[in-house]
Amino acid sequence: MRRGFNLFSIGGIKISIHYTWFVVLGLVVWSLAVEHFPHAYPDFSKVTIWLVSLAAALLLFVSVLLHELSHSFVANRMGLGIRGITLFIFGGIAHLGKEPDDPGTEFKVAVAGPVCSLALAVIFFVAYLALVTEFGRTPVVAILEYLWYVNAALVAFNLVPGFPLDGGRLLRAILWKRTKDIRRATRIASLFGRGFAILLILAGLFEIFVTRDFGGIWLVLIGMFLQQAAEGSYQQVLMRNALSGVRVRQTMTTDVVHVSPELTLAELVESFFFKYRFNSYPVVDGPSLVGMVDLEQVRRVPREEWHSVTVGDVMTPISEGLALRPDDDAVDALTKMLKSGWGMLPVAEGERLLGILTRRDVMTLLKIKTDLGT
Ligand SMILES: [Zn+2]
Repeated sequence: MRRGFNLFSIGGIKISIHYTWFVVLGLVVWSLAVEHFPHAYPDFSKVTIWLVSLAAALLLFVSVLLHELSHSFVANRMGLGIRGITLFIFGGIAHLGKEPDDPGTEFKVAVAGPVCSLALAVIFFVAYLALVTEFGRTPVVAILEYLWYVNAALVAFNLVPGFPLDGGRLLRAILWKRTKDIRRATRIASLFGRGFAILLILAGLFEIFVTRDFGGIWLVLIGMFLQQAAEGSYQQVLMRNALSGVRVRQTMTTDVVHVSPELTLAELVESFFFKYRFNSYPVVDGPSLVGMVDLEQVRRVPREEWHSVTVGDVMTPISEGLALRPDDDAVDALTKMLKSGWGMLPVAEGERLLGILTRRDVMTLLKIKTDLGT
C-alpha cells in the first residue's frame, strides 16, 4: 500500500489522505444530497442542496481531522513521536505510529479523540440552536444541524468498546492495567471489536434484505472494515510481542548488492534485475548511500530511453527518510516498510551503507520465534 496524498502539516504532524477517502467523500456528498437534506429541508433548491451537502461533507472531514489531531497531540506529549496521520472517513481507526508502552498512556491518548468530538458536537449544537431560533431553517442551520449530529455519532461509534476503536483501546487499557498482560487485554478487546463488526454486518444485511433499505450497505462496509482492523491489530500486537527487543542490525542482510547512480537503466536491467532478481537496490555513490531504485521506477521510463536515462535520474533520494539505522526496532522498521511500499530498506550509519532489511528477513525471524514459542 503506497501512502496517500499529502495535504499539510500542523504542529509537526503531517496530514495525508488515503486515496479511498475520495471515493467515500463522493458517496457521503451523494447520499446527503439525495437522501438526507431533501427530506430534512424540502424547501431548498437543487443547487442549494448540493452546495450544503458538499460543505457538510467537507466539514465532516474537518471534524474527523480534529478528532485525530487530538489523539496525536496527546500522543506526542506522551512522547510517542507521531509524525503523521492518514485519514480515512471514520475517526478512531487510522492511528499510526508507535503503540503506547503503558496502560495510562493508552488511556489518555484514546480518550482525547472522543472528548474533542464531544466538544465539537456541543459547540455545533449551541450554534445550531442560536441560529435556528434567530433565522429559521437556513442552509447554514442545515449544515450546523448535520454537524452536531454527526459529531455526536462519532463519539458514540468510537466509544463502542471494540478494539481498535477508541472505546476498545480504553477497554484494553483498563484490562491491561488489571491483568498486566497486554496480549490478553488485546485479545479480549479485539474479540469485542470483531463481535461488534459482525453485529454491524448482520444489521446491514437485515436492512438491505428485510427492510429493503439499501443504506444498509454502509453498515456492512463499516463492519467489514472494522472486522479486518480488529484482526490486524491483534496480529500486530502478537508480532510486537514476539519481536520485542529485536534490532534491525540482528536481522538485516549485510551482503548487499548495490548499484551506482551513473548506471544507465539498460545496464541496470541487464546486469542487476535479470541477474539477481531483487526488485529494488540501494544506490551508492563512492562511500555514500544516495537512494533506492526499484523496478516500478524503471518501468515508468519508455524503453527507448533506457540507454540515456541513469539510475540517478529515477531513484528515490535517501533524504526522504528512507534509510533505517542499525539500532532501530525491527517492528518499527517493518511498519515503515509496509507504509512506504518498499519491499526492502537500506540500513545505514551516517551515509555508509551497512546492509539491507527485507520484509522476508523480519517475517522469517518472526516465524522462527513463534514456532519455537519464544
Ligand atoms: Zn479516535
